[in-house]
Amino acid sequence: MILNLFRIERAMLQQKYSILIQKIPDLKSQEFLSNHCTFRIGGPADLFWNCSDINLLPEFLKITKNLEIPYFIFGGGSNILFDSNGFRGLVIKITDSNFEFINSSAPFLKASAGARMALLAKESFSKKLTGLEWANGLPGTLGGAIYGNAGCHDCEIADLIENVTLYDFEKGIFEVKKDYFDFKYRDSKLKKTKEIVLKATLKLKNTNTDLKKSKEAVNFRAEKQPWGFTTGSFFKNPEGDSAGRLIDSVGLKGYQIGEAKISEKHANFFMNLGHATSDDILKLRALAKEKVMANFGIELEDEIIIVNS
Ligand SMILES: Cc1cc2nc3c(=O)[nH]c(=O)nc-3n(C[C@H](O)[C@H](O)[C@H](O)COP(=O)(O)OP(=O)(O)OC[C@H]3O[C@@H](n4cnc5c(N)ncnc54)[C@H](O)[C@@H]3O)c2cc1C
Repeated sequence: MILNLFRIERAMLQQKYSILIQKIPDLKSQEFLSNHCTFRIGGPADLFWNCSDINLLPEFLKITKNLEIPYFIFGGGSNILFDSNGFRGLVIKITDSNFEFINSSAPFLKASAGARMALLAKESFSKKLTGLEWANGLPGTLGGAIYGNAGCHDCEIADLIENVTLYDFEKGIFEVKKDYFDFKYRDSKLKKTKEIVLKATLKLKNTNTDLKKSKEAVNFRAEKQPWGFTTGSFFKNPEGDSAGRLIDSVGLKGYQIGEAKISEKHANFFMNLGHATSDDILKLRALAKEKVMANFGIELEDEIIIVNS
C-alpha cells in the first residue's frame, strides 16, 4: 500500500518534471550535487539548473512553484551540506556573475547574486577602492554572503549594502535598503522570508585599497584554517566564546566518523576526507552538540545550511 502510494507520487512528480523540462532550457537531470559544493557531498538532484541569467529566475521559479515542484536555490555551495541521497525536485545554482562599477557621489559596485565575493574583492582592489579587503579569499557568492551576512576580521557584508533587489512570489521583484535585512552575526531576515537575492549594490570608498589588510585576510586563512573539502565554520560562535574552543575542550579535535573528521587544525571545521556521506557529517554534528551541551550547557547553533532530500 505504502509502496504503491510512493510509486504514484513519483509518477506524478515525473509528469511535472516533463512539463518543466519543456519550459526551462538547459535543465539537467540526475546532476550530482557533490560537484557543486565545497564539502563535495551530495547525491543526484532530480533536476538541476545553472542560472546564468538572473533575469530569467523569477519567471522560471513561478512555473516551478505553480507545478508544486520542491526547489532549492544556492550560489557557491560553500556553506551547505547536501544530502547524499540527493534532492527530489529542482536545484538551482545561481551563476550569473555580472558586475559593474558605478561612479557617482561614491563608488558603487553593482553585481548579480552569483558574483564571486573573492573576485569582487580583487576587482575593487584593481580600481584602488576600499571596503572588500576582508573578503579577499572568501568562498561563495554575493547572494550567499547577504543571506548569511558573511564576514570576518570584524567586517561583514552588511557594512557595505547600499541596496538589494529581491524576489518573492507574492511581492514580485522589489528593492530594499540595508535596514530591511535585520542583519545580525551570520544572520539576515532572508533565513526566515526565503526571499531571493537577484542583485545588490555595494558602497565602497575612494580611500585606496588597504593592501596590508587584504593580504592579512588571505594569510590568516592559510595559517589558521585547514585546507580540504569543508564548509568553513560549521557552528556559529556562541556569544563571548568560540565553537572551535568548545569542541576542542570536549576532546573532539581530530575525531572521525566514517570519512568525516573534525579538523586537527581548527575544531569548528568539519572535513570530508574524500568519501564522507551527509550521515557521517550529521553524526559528528550530533556528537559535538551533545558533548558541548553536557559539558558547558551551551547549545551550538549551525552556521551551515543543511539541505534535506
Ligand atoms: C574554507 C572556507 C572558509 C570560509 N570562511 C568564511 C568566513 O570567514 N566568513 C564567513 O562568513 N563565511 C565563511 N565561509 C562560509 C561561506 O563562504 C559563506 O557563508 C558564503 O557567504 C556562502 O556563500 P555561497 O554562495 O557559497 O552560499 P551557498 O552555500 O551556496 O548557500 C548558503 C545559503 O545561502 C542561500 N543563498 C545562496 N544564494 C542566495 C540568493 N541569491 N538568494 C537567497 N539565498 C541565497 C542558500 O539557499 C543557502 O541557504 C567559509 C567557507 C569555506 C569553505
